[in-house]
Amino acid sequence: MPPLPSAGDLTPAGVFCSNHPLIQHKLALLRSVETAPKQFREVVAEITQLLAYEATADLTTVDEQVVTPLTTTTCRVVDERIGLVPVLRAGLGMVEAVLQLLPYAQVWHIGLFRDERTLQPISYYNRLPDRTTVDICLLLDPMLATGGSAVATLDILKKWGARRIKYMGLIAAPEGIARLQAAHPDVPIHLAAIDQRLNERGYIVPGLGDAGDRQFGTG
Ligand code: URA
Repeated sequence: MPPLPSAGDLTPAGVFCSNHPLIQHKLALLRSVETAPKQFREVVAEITQLLAYEATADLTTVDEQVVTPLTTTTCRVVDERIGLVPVLRAGLGMVEAVLQLLPYAQVWHIGLFRDERTLQPISYYNRLPDRTTVDICLLLDPMLATGGSAVATLDILKKWGARRIKYMGLIAAPEGIARLQAAHPDVPIHLAAIDQRLNERGYIVPGLGDAGDRQFGTG
């Protein structure tokens, strides 16, 4: 296993952690215990959109002729079938934000919950068809903690036939990054922050608490 990246380290290869002031400002709102679910959901969506802008920078485009009011011109349009794969339930809050940018994307939900005793992911929802229907998948999962759910979801997507996959999250622990990169070194990781560590209950510290509870008011 590669050494754990720490919060102060240079970002490890394959990990794109945004240092953008807007993202960092919004992250402060997410972390605050004072932020209520309505604003929390809004800010999750806003950060997700900014991260998605970066994560989609290398999508393949194809030239298309477009008639303007003045003439005909060559434009570039996205030429990939895109799948959004939110991990239930915390990933749900990221879906609509990406769909606003990619309204033609397919959405494939994967349900995993974390056994609080073993911290292992248990799959409870997966309706993927037999064969892959997309060229690229964006895995939406806000908290990369132990990495167990992310690795399990990537295993599922690769078995499905997905060739290009990117992980999009909000906050990661160094342990989660190391585990994901060890299991799936080909998957780029897009984040707003790399935090210090996991605590004994598998929560990211300083983190923001349970991303599902904070979005849906169930904490
Ligand atoms: N999942 C969360 O929602 N928060 C954490 O800190 C870790 C996993």
